[in-house]
Amino acid sequence: MINKLLIANRGEIALRILRAAKELKIPTVAAYSEADKDLMHVKMADESICIGPADSSQSYLNIPAIISAMELSGADGVHPGYGFLSENPDFAEKVEKSGFDFVGPSGSVIRMMGNKVSAKEFALKSGLPIVPGSSGPVGENVHKEAEEIGYPVIIKAASGGGGRGMKIVYSPEELDNAIELTQQESAAAFGDSTVYLEKFLESPRHIEVQVLADRHGNILHLGDRDCSLQRRHQKVIEEAPAMDIKEEKRQEIYAQCIEACRQLNYVSAGTFEFLYENDNFYFIEMNTRIQVEHPVTESVTGLDLVKLQLRIARDEELKIKQEDIVMKGHAIECRINAENSETFLPSPGKILEYHAPGGIGVRMDSHLYKDYVVPPYYDSLIAKVICRANDREDARARLERALEEMYVLGIDTNLDMHRKLINDPNFINGTFNINYLENLNKDK
Ligand code: ADP
Repeated sequence: MINKLLIANRGEIALRILRAAKELKIPTVAAYSEADKDLMHVKMADESICIGPADSSQSYLNIPAIISAMELSGADGVHPGYGFLSENPDFAEKVEKSGFDFVGPSGSVIRMMGNKVSAKEFALKSGLPIVPGSSGPVGENVHKEAEEIGYPVIIKAASGGGGRGMKIVYSPEELDNAIELTQQESAAAFGDSTVYLEKFLESPRHIEVQVLADRHGNILHLGDRDCSLQRRHQKVIEEAPAMDIKEEKRQEIYAQCIEACRQLNYVSAGTFEFLYENDNFYFIEMNTRIQVEHPVTESVTGLDLVKLQLRIARDEELKIKQEDIVMKGHAIECRINAENSETFLPSPGKILEYHAPGGIGVRMDSHLYKDYVVPPYYDSLIAKVICRANDREDARARLERALEEMYVLGIDTNLDMHRKLINDPNFINGTFNINYLENLNKDK
């Protein structure tokens, strides 16, 4: 039972969590760093507590500081949002051991799914389709394995995340060097040098399935999303539902995800991520948390995922049944960053003027306000614009109109990039895959 919720995150997601908690009448405590005292949700929360300096390793990633903030404020539950400690099994365990509720699955599930090697082993065992690859960490017979999988292959860090710790190898001569580099990079970034091998799929789409499970054995899927438009493996535009997937394939993958949740004893919201090529799904990882792109699913299902996460954490039983979940129309989300549209360089600073788009079918999740200063220390996401309409083209046209209305003065944003992108014929026609954006930028 959560009677007071600590929000251990910042920016738009912290505000999103605060709004859900308010609707459930759960008092909130905003845990913030010294650089974030002016964040909108810090001002709106019932209480706020500073957890350390701007440097996230000393604040948003500081487990003892967050636990003390819970003790001091009397909060008995914590929502980690995404990023920071959201997929840190030690944090989830520490929260539970301290007698508090963690909004998310158990530490052991986070640990298993957080490591790509064990996640893949689980996926294989549970019946999810996986990308052909090495059965475990690379060893002496790596050359033979790569030969069997067939080039190109991709070397991936077991503890990798956020698009880091991956290298594509096109020929046997490059293999040893690429493994060494990925090992070094992963050891430095994630403190673990374990890497494994996977077939590199050349032109897949990124399709993911949203799931939700309670502590009473109810497991639901909330359909799929296409997140193929990525830059440096980071999603830029997401939409729901994914286009052009055969209904039969779709139902098959949903059933497999639900079965995987059942075997995991999964609780809370989660996402199974797949690469999709030639009518086939290949599991790549599971995110055991709420994701940035969850609003597109909310827009087409009408469900509030964060509120449901909180209800689940309070031991409530999901009242909705699978047959009640109907996808209505189409939704598209653009991630608006404080960065230059051409150079992609971050652009922190003061917001001098600002206008949020509105009107029918437009949702904007953002912590921006006039005179707010975007700090240089964190992720550059400043807003998400989500449009829903009866079909994809109407949602796209609505998004075009919404982006036209929006302006942010004082800092650079990638609004222009989005305006161009959603007018790109390949976006309009839906003819793109995960390489599309990278190739588009190369031509510049
Ligand atoms: P992360 O945890 O860093 O997000 P993922 O395993 O989810 O890593 O992969 C991120 C992205 O990297 C994918 O969306 C895709 O663009 C690319 N990728 C990962 N594995 C492969 C693969 N086997 N073939 C082609 N692209 C891949």
